[in-house]
Amino acid sequence: MTEVIDGEAVAAAIRSGVSDCVETLTASGVRPGLATVLMSDDPASETYVSMKQRDCEEVGIEGFHVEIDPDAPASELYDTIDDLNDREDVSGILVQLPVPDHVDKRTVLRRVAPEKDVDGFHPENVGRLVAGDARFKPCTPHGVQKLLDAYDIETEGADAVVVGRSDIVGKPMANLLIQKAPGGNATTTVCHSRTRNLEEKVGSADIVVAAAGIPGFVDGSMLKEGATVIDVGINKVDADTEKGYELVGDVDYDSASEVAGAITPVPGGVGPMTRAMLLYNTVKAAGLQHDVDVDLP
Ligand code: NDP
Repeated sequence: MTEVIDGEAVAAAIRSGVSDCVETLTASGVRPGLATVLMSDDPASETYVSMKQRDCEEVGIEGFHVEIDPDAPASELYDTIDDLNDREDVSGILVQLPVPDHVDKRTVLRRVAPEKDVDGFHPENVGRLVAGDARFKPCTPHGVQKLLDAYDIETEGADAVVVGRSDIVGKPMANLLIQKAPGGNATTTVCHSRTRNLEEKVGSADIVVAAAGIPGFVDGSMLKEGATVIDVGINKVDADTEKGYELVGDVDYDSASEVAGAITPVPGGVGPMTRAMLLYNTVKAAGLQHDVDVDLP
């Protein structure tokens, strides 16, 4: 029987643990706060930011939101980040990506104070993750690690294949899986668009993390019997629905679930975990900044 990994349930447990952390912080006189910054009029980005704000409210994290005209000079975004870096009541800062073309993304990622970089994208935090001394693990791969743990899926000694090498998913995912630490110790292969014999590599994996951004890219015929399949993909495809589209993963769920030992659905798998881990990083940031011990979930 294939086990369906319930990301909604695991994320709810993480949120509950985060609420407890908020109570601990509040008892010490600290109100954790997350600032989101949006410099875009893309409806998807607007939706993501408002979901993050709603999540904050649910667990008692104070939400701050700054909107910047997408045509404004880049300096306006940099100045906003500087202001948020200086504010006592802001524990974490999230600049919603992508930013407009005239804004240098690298500058943005370096501008956020590493202590408030709850996305974990600042080079200092990337370096710490690679060195095995993570401060903030990026939310999506951290969420995947939590899902594997929640379902007792052993990473130690497992052959893992990550499809995708982006800075926000593939690379940090692989870095977490190779760490000599709980949730790591996997023998990890990273595949990308130049990989030869990708099918062979995926077919030998005990754990497959699909993050290529291609609908249905991994199907059942590619998988080893009993493999754990984590589908990170969120892809919009045309469909006969009210909105005219539907969201699908990078895994062909129907064929993959015939072969997999465990599998995440889309929606309801990795997506809710990404959101929950942002809250986790925010209370972690508040605890570190104010020297309050929080019992992270
Ligand atoms: P990117 O587009 O930044 O990266 C895609 C990666 O897939 C690249 O490394 C690319 O290789 C690789 N790739 C593309 N085509 C192929 C191919 N034919 N064979 C093998 N590898 C290939 O995407 P992201 O990492 O940002 O996101 C991946 C997916 O995850 C998207 O669907 C995105 O929407 C989703 N996502 C979901 C989140 C969630 O919370 N569930 C959070 C973040 C993203 P190369 O480097 O060579 O170009």
